[in-house]
Amino acid sequence: MEYLSDRINSLSVSQTLAMAQKSRELKAKGLDIISLSLGEPDFNTPDYIKEAAKKAIDDNYSKYPPVPGYDDLRKAISKKFKEENGIDYSPDQIIVSAGGKHSLINVILSMINPGDEVIILAPYWVSYYDQIMFAGGIPVIVEATLENDFKISSEQLEAAVTKKTRLVIFNSPSNPTGMVYTRTEMEKIARVIEKHEGLFIMSDEIYEHIIFNGEHVSMASFDFIYDRVITVNGVSKGYAMTGWRIGYIGAPLWISKACNKLQGQFTSGVCSIAQRAALAAIQGNGDSQKIMKEAFHRRRDLICGLLKEVKGLKVPVPEGAFYVMPDISYYLGKSDGETKIVNSDDLALFLLDKAQVAIVGGDAFGAPNCIRISYANSDDLLVEAVKRIKAALERLH
Ligand code: PMP
Ligand code: GLU
Repeated sequence: MEYLSDRINSLSVSQTLAMAQKSRELKAKGLDIISLSLGEPDFNTPDYIKEAAKKAIDDNYSKYPPVPGYDDLRKAISKKFKEENGIDYSPDQIIVSAGGKHSLINVILSMINPGDEVIILAPYWVSYYDQIMFAGGIPVIVEATLENDFKISSEQLEAAVTKKTRLVIFNSPSNPTGMVYTRTEMEKIARVIEKHEGLFIMSDEIYEHIIFNGEHVSMASFDFIYDRVITVNGVSKGYAMTGWRIGYIGAPLWISKACNKLQGQFTSGVCSIAQRAALAAIQGNGDSQKIMKEAFHRRRDLICGLLKEVKGLKVPVPEGAFYVMPDISYYLGKSDGETKIVNSDDLALFLLDKAQVAIVGGDAFGAPNCIRISYANSDDLLVEAVKRIKAALERLH
C-alpha cells in the first residue's frame, strides 16, 4: 500500500526530463538516438568558470553558505541587474537558489494561496503549470497562436484577469517557442499589471543572453510596475552551466525575505562551489556567451531552413533561446499502417521509434498541435535529425 499525499499525486512528471531520460536509456542500449528533447546548451562550461570552482575547493569553500547566497555573489548580481537590465535591486533583494526552477517554486509557494489564480501564457514552459498546481493555485491559460508569433496581446491578458488573479508568469525569450516580446508589446502588458492592484508578474528571463536580433527588455525596468515584478534568472542557459544548479531572483524585499525563510527551512544556502563558479560567470567579459549565441543563431537558421522543406510543417522562426516549435496538425489523424497519430505525444513517440530522434510533444507545453525541438546540438546532427524526421513523416498517410 502506498500512502502518497494528494499534493504529490497532483504533480505530473516533467515531460522534458522524461523524454531526456527515455533517450538516455535507448542510447545506453546502443541505439543511435539524436536527442533534441532537453533544453540545454551542448557547450561545456567555459574554462574561467571551471577554474573558479577548482579554486573554491582549494580555498575551502566547504562550510554552509549564507541562506540567500554569498554576499559578494549577491552584490555581483545586483550590479549585473543595474548594468545589463537597468533595474535597481539591492543585494538584500536577491536570493540565490538551486536553479531557476527552484527560484520559481520559492516565489510561487511564498505568494500563492490555494484558490489563487495564476495566469500563464501558452505555449508555456512545462514546470509553470505543475508548480502552480502544487501550491494549490489555479493555472489560467491565455493562449497565443502561431499566427500571432506565439505572443499574446495585452487585451487577451486583460480579459483573463479576475479578482482572484495574483500572478502572471511571463517568459521572453520563450521556452518553448523561442519568441521574444518587443519593448512596446511588453509595455502594454506592464500597463495591465499596473491597472490591477495586488497583481504581480514574475518575469523569467533565463534566456536573456540568447537573442538573435532584437533587444532583451526586463519587465522590472518599467518603473511604474517595479514593485510588482519578480525577476527570475540564472546561469544555466547563458553560461552553459545547467548542471551547476544556480538561479536567482530580484524582487520586492518582502518577497525576497519570504523566499529566504523558505530556503532556510528547506534547502539552506545552495552549493558553495557552484556559487563561487556563478560569481566568476557573472563577472566574466561575455566572450564565451557571444560565441554560444552565434552558434545558436547559425543553427536556428540551419534547422528552420531544413524544417520548412518538410511537407505539412508550419515553422515559426524563433528569435531567441534554442527551441523551435513547428505546428504538426497536418499529421494528426494520419497513420503509417501500424501507428495512428492522435496527438503530439504520439508523434513524439513515433519519431523516437521510427526516426530515432527525441523531441517533446506540445501537449505538456499547452500546445497540442505542435512539437518542441531543441536545436542546442551540432550542425551535423541537426541535419541528420531533420533528414530522419522527414523520412519518418513521409510514411504517414
Ligand atoms: N525557466 C525556463 C523557461 C527554462 O527553460 C528553464 C530550463 N529548465 C528554467 C526556468 C530553469 O532552469 P534552471 O533550473 O536550470 O536554472
Ligand atoms: N529547461 C529545459 C527544458 O525545457 C530543461 C529541462 C527542464 O528543466 O525541464 O528542456
